[in-house]
Amino acid sequence: MTERGLLIVLSGPSGVGKGTVRKAIFETEGNDFEYSISMTTRQMREGEVEGEDYFFRTREEFEELIAAGQMLEYAEYAGNYYGTPLEYVNQTLDQGKDVFLEIEVQGAMKVKEKAPDGVYIFLTPPDLSELKSRIVGRGTDEMSVIEQRMEIAVSEIEMMSHYDYAVVNDEVPLAVKRIKDIIHSEHLRVDRV
Ligand code: 5GP
Repeated sequence: MTERGLLIVLSGPSGVGKGTVRKAIFETEGNDFEYSISMTTRQMREGEVEGEDYFFRTREEFEELIAAGQMLEYAEYAGNYYGTPLEYVNQTLDQGKDVFLEIEVQGAMKVKEKAPDGVYIFLTPPDLSELKSRIVGRGTDEMSVIEQRMEIAVSEIEMMSHYDYAVVNDEVPLAVKRIKDIIHSEHLRVDRV
């Protein structure tokens, strides 16, 4: 029987740069893990592609999948559903490949309950004022959404103790290297071989 792959979960507050770091990781060479594309009910942003950035679905469609037990986890975040389709994750892990999730904190905690052997990595901002300027600087959200995201971010940072690793996102290439080093080290752990 093939050994099951490792579930790697990257999480952290909104605006910390999880998406940027995740994309940068997948642009580098030598990755031995597969990205699980999430599903969301939010509007597609300019430049986003269905089935690449997300699977964009209506609330009705999303709720049907929840009811059918087809989501590994989901969360309501800033008025929209976000979730991880279960089947892709299970199939890929069963094939012995590692799966990489990039999700917000509530969802990460739900995954941890179901899969405590996963590797849980928390991406942190160097400080909160920088987080705000990144969210504002992104320019895609209205002020009320920014305020809402900041409040969520402060409470999310308090969740760090539930994770295995904390990685500061001061510079993207450094954060990428730290995360790849963590994944590499996890494979060398005596209790995993
Ligand atoms: P955005 O709207 O900026 O793409 O994402 C908003 C938040 O949703 C980010 O923190 C992102 O990490 C999170 N997110 C993306 N996909 C998922 C998912 O499948 N599940 C959960 N719980 N959060 C997700």
